Formats: sequence, C-alpha cells, structure tokens
Amino acid sequence: MSELGAAEEMQLLAAVDRWIERDVRPIVREYDHSDRYPTELVEQMKELGLFGATIGEEYGGLGLPATTYAEIVIRIASVWMSITGIFNSHLMLALAIERFGTPEQKSRWLPKLASGEIRGGIALTEPSGGTDLQAIRTAARREGDDYIIDGSKIWITNAVEGSCFALLVKTDPAAEPRHKGMSLFIAPKKEGMRAGKPLEKLGYKSIDSAELTFTGYRIPADHLIGGVEGQGFYQATGGLELGRINVAARGVGIAEGALRLATQYSQSRRTFGKPICEHQAIQLKLAEMVTRARAARLLTLDAARAFDRGGRCDMEAGMAKYFASEAALENSIEAMRIHGAYGYSKEYDVERLYRDAPLTCIGEGTNEIQRIVISRQWIKRNPP
Ligand SMILES: Cc1cc2nc3c(=O)[nH]c(=O)nc-3n(C[C@H](O)[C@H](O)[C@H](O)COP(=O)(O)OP(=O)(O)OC[C@H]3O[C@@H](n4cnc5c(N)ncnc54)[C@H](O)[C@@H]3O)c2cc1C
Repeated sequence: MSELGAAEEMQLLAAVDRWIERDVRPIVREYDHSDRYPTELVEQMKELGLFGATIGEEYGGLGLPATTYAEIVIRIASVWMSITGIFNSHLMLALAIERFGTPEQKSRWLPKLASGEIRGGIALTEPSGGTDLQAIRTAARREGDDYIIDGSKIWITNAVEGSCFALLVKTDPAAEPRHKGMSLFIAPKKEGMRAGKPLEKLGYKSIDSAELTFTGYRIPADHLIGGVEGQGFYQATGGLELGRINVAARGVGIAEGALRLATQYSQSRRTFGKPICEHQAIQLKLAEMVTRARAARLLTLDAARAFDRGGRCDMEAGMAKYFASEAALENSIEAMRIHGAYGYSKEYDVERLYRDAPLTCIGEGTNEIQRIVISRQWIKRNPP
C-alpha cells in the first residue's frame, strides 16, 4: 500500500464525512430496521473509490495505507457498521489476489474489483465450523483444464449481492498436515454456485450473510490463486491481518459512536435538577468509555502502522481486534444504560450499536482465538 500525503488523506476523509452526514445518517434507522439493502449507498461507495480502497493504484484502486483505511472504517462504523462489510469483505478477496495471484490474475480481476464492477467477499466458513478452518470439507477435483467443486459455505458476507468470492477448498483432502491440501480459488458466481436466502441476524442488518452451495461447480484451472495447489490456507489466513484491523476499526467506530451518543444524551437528560452527566455515577461510566475508546483507537492504528511497515503483525492485529471489539460491546451497553428506557427504544440509535457490537467479537477469528494468537506470538517473540 502506498503512502498518502497528509493533505490528500484529509481531503479523502472529509469526503467520507460529508457522505456519511448527507447520505448515510439520514437513512440508517429506517434501512436497518427494515433490513433493506442500501443499493444507493453502494453506488456512492463506488464513486468514493471504497471498493478499491486498499487495491494498488496501478490496478485502479486508491492504494490507501491501512492507517487511512482504518480511519475510514472507524468513521463509517460509528454511524452504521453494516455498510462497512460491503467493502471490507470485498477487499479481502482483492487482497488475496493482489498478494498471491499470478500477474494475469491481478490484471484480469483487480481493475474490476477496484471499480466495484465486480463485488464480492471471502468464503471460508462451513456449516461444520469456522475456527478450525483446516477441517473444511468443500473439495475441488481436477478434470482436464478445469476444477469441479462441491460443498457448502455459510455466513458468507455479500453472498447474495456479490458476484465473486475467494473460495477456500480442499484440493487434497487426505493431505497431512491438513493445510497442505488446501487451495484458494477466485470463484465467480455462475452455474453450480447458489446463494441461499439471507440469514436472519440480531444485528448487522441490511447486508446479506448467506449460505453458498457448490454443486458440480466448474471453473478453469487459471482461477486457482497463484496457480499452485496447497497454498490456500496460508493465502486465506495471510489476509486475516488486514481483516482483523478492519474489524478492530469497526469496534473503534462503535465504541466512539456509543460514547458520542451517551455524552450528548447525558448532557441533555436531567434528573434531580441537573444534567445526568453531573452525577458521579454517570461520570465514572463516561470516563471508562472514553478511555476504552481511546485505547482501542490507539491499538488499532498501531496495528495498521505495523501492517503498513510490512512483515508479520498478527500479534498487533490480534490485540487491536480483541480489545476494540470488547470495547465496542462494553461501550454500547454502557451507552444504553445511560439512555435509561430510551436506550431500549428503537427510536434511538444506541440499540443498533448494541446489536451490532457482538459481531466484532466473532468475525475474523473469535476473541478466544485472538487471545491464543496474541499469546503464541508473544511467547515466540520472547524466547527463554
Ligand atoms: C454476520 C456474520 C458474517 C460472517 N461473514 C463471514 C464471511 O464473509 N466469510 C466467512 O468465511 N465467514 C464469515 N463468518 C463466519 C465467522 O468467521 C465464524 O462464525 C467464526 O470464524 C467462528 O466460527 P463458528 O461460528 O463456526 O464457531 P466455532 O468455530 O464452532 O466456535 C464455537 C466457539 O468455540 C470457540 N473455540 C473454537 N475453537 C477453539 C479453540 N481451539 N480454543 C478455544 N476456543 C475455541 C470459539 O471461540 C467459539 O466461542 C461470519 C459470521 C457472522 C456471524
């Protein structure tokens, strides 16, 4: 990812802010409650260049560093987390191609992904599990110049609205160790791939999460990312560092959004003759919320900087994702408590943040796994 001048970064962030205030904030409550897909916003995201945010400029993307990208995600998620998924998952697909694809794959797919002409996501999780990725059962077998794929994926973001996915499969189900038998494919939607109905969710509304089933799905061998079998596990998890920074940034957005709503409400709501922000019990809550939000932001930008420097940053990304998602959860419930009964009302925004926050603890590796990743890396970096 390229360096961005300070002026350019400010211009871009100002454009994102204007878009949020003009086009996102006014519709969020109505769309979220009716679980309606924001087609108009997708078109505006294309204009802003969000589908190419982290894709190199040589392929028509913005080539943003992870720090700027995280800042964009934070700002959007502080108002409506759902819509960040429309381009976050898509960029995971693009990252896999840009990092590990052949020159032909990059020039064929990346420009169309950057413009948003092709939109998609990443299909790893299966009905039998998401954490133990090496246990997946979806399998590809070679037949002449093609691969035939059978199996199913679940919880795939953009499965209905998207048209192309990074698809993790077994090309050698008997391989030991198991990861050596895994490969990642560029899988465009066509005959043999079917998206199920969008799954009903607690939050993360208005964006489709669905099952993708593959029945005799045939694709040319040149869709195998990097052109060599057995690299899929490494390619799929290689993208998780940026994925975790994504989710961390969503967590920061929710933590900051909840803090903002709670602050405003506590300044206007009065009990016992004064605004509730003047009661010490509320002040203690606000102090914890602002500290958590700030710490989450710093950890997330620290991880993004480590990513931009290159090299391994799974510990930094794991710490950011773990801390920021827990901060989102805690701040959203504290904001709800500060709102009293109104926090429980669908007429206020805080209930949405409360419903969206838990996903950040699950996606891109659960927080149980994050702690294992952090701890393993920590021990490795500090040998006896
Ligand atoms: C709204 C939504 C969108 C999603 N989008 C996508 C997507 O676009 N693409 C995609 O591929 N997936 C997606 N997912 C799936 C997500 O990545 C998985 O849900 C996640 O990886 C966890 O997998 P699982 O749900 O199968 O839980 P499991 O793997 O079954 O885990 C269940 C519980 O056991 C714990 N656990 C498991 N193994 C261990 C261990 N070794 N040590 C300690 N604890 C452990 C977990 O932390 C969890 O608490 C999405 C999920 C949701 C809810």
